[in-house]
Amino acid sequence: MARDWLKGAHSFYDVVVIGSGLAGMTSANLLARLGHSVLLAEHHYNLGGMATWFKRRGGHILDISLHGFPCGMIKTLRKYWTREMADSVIQLKGIHFDNPQFSVNTTFDKVDFSRILMDHFGIMKDVIDDFFKTARSMNFYDDLVMTTGELFEKFFPGRKDVWRFLMEPITYANGSTLDDPALTYGIVFSNFMDRGVFTFQGGTDQLIKKMKKELLKNGVDIRNHCLVEKIHVQDKTVNGVRINGKDIACNAVLSNSNLLTTVHKLVGDDKFDPRFVEEVNKVRLNNSSCQVYMGIRKGEKIDYAGDLLFSSDADEYNTEKILSKNVTSRTFSFY
Ligand SMILES: Cc1cc2nc3c(=O)[nH]c(=O)nc-3n(C[C@H](O)[C@H](O)[C@H](O)COP(=O)(O)OP(=O)(O)OC[C@H]3O[C@@H](n4cnc5c(N)ncnc54)[C@H](O)[C@@H]3O)c2cc1C
Repeated sequence: MARDWLKGAHSFYDVVVIGSGLAGMTSANLLARLGHSVLLAEHHYNLGGMATWFKRRGGHILDISLHGFPCGMIKTLRKYWTREMADSVIQLKGIHFDNPQFSVNTTFDKVDFSRILMDHFGIMKDVIDDFFKTARSMNFYDDLVMTTGELFEKFFPGRKDVWRFLMEPITYANGSTLDDPALTYGIVFSNFMDRGVFTFQGGTDQLIKKMKKELLKNGVDIRNHCLVEKIHVQDKTVNGVRINGKDIACNAVLSNSNLLTTVHKLVGDDKFDPRFVEEVNKVRLNNSSCQVYMGIRKGEKIDYAGDLLFSSDADEYNTEKILSKNVTSRTFSFY
């Protein structure tokens, strides 16, 4: 008989959190700390969602994601998790660009980027300041008509080398290109430009292990192998979920399943205002990158090439080349 992964679960929780990605775990932890009874349902056998890793013989633990993130993670970990976790976040100081147009090293923060834009690319300080100010002020309520390419053309007309310097890391981070709304660029760029690129010392496996310990300490009922199949809604109010064929009642659901699945499949279009569904249909989910992992034998070493290396053989950055199956740009993360 198949194992009952919900054995011992209650029939009611204040909140059911769907998915144990970083967002799901963080909200489950906060809700539990606020005194709510929380069920965290994850259909994978592990916690962490995309923040995951795999092990190989020879002692390699290879992180799938979280190679670099903005410094905001320190505050997030301190506020929603523990000081110990926040203290394990460290800055990556060696970011290197190498392509036919330029070869530069940077700490990837606003001060250093401004210096390079002035000294290496010859851009006036006023223009740089104005560009940073514009990128920083972008928010989700803005007009989404302007593309990133148009934004660059406005501030750095014809300067394809500058565009590449500004764009390559963001393409790596969120898969966006010059043809996407400038907002997709502005928010991510400003986040990193705050203070640079950071990572979790010890690796993602350690981070997730610490998070799990904290969730259990705060009383969250964590259930792996549990697929939420349906969110029950009656009279415009959530009243439960179906997990692995079993109904569990709740007062609220926080879904970390993706937006389209949550609306179309878990809840159902008929439960929403048609105008809302129309807006949801416009959402495109981004898939950013393909990764290859390489481990080296114990005792062997490779020469220092930085913490992050943005390398490319392409003569210039453009959307077709980035999306082409003929790969010309590669980012290396060393750890
Ligand atoms: C290859 C790669 C590299 C990346 N590199 C970086 C990086 O260097 N820096 C950085 O900041 N970010 C990086 N990211 C992005 C980062 O990993 C994600 O943004 C983040 O982990 C997403 O967390 P999340 O909680 O929003 O969603 P997810 O991690 O997608 O979590 C969703 C969870 O919900 C579960 N789920 C979904 N539906 C159901 C259901 N119906 N029932 C039960 N469970 C369900 C899934 O199994 C999953 O565990 C990378 C991502 C990838 C894929």
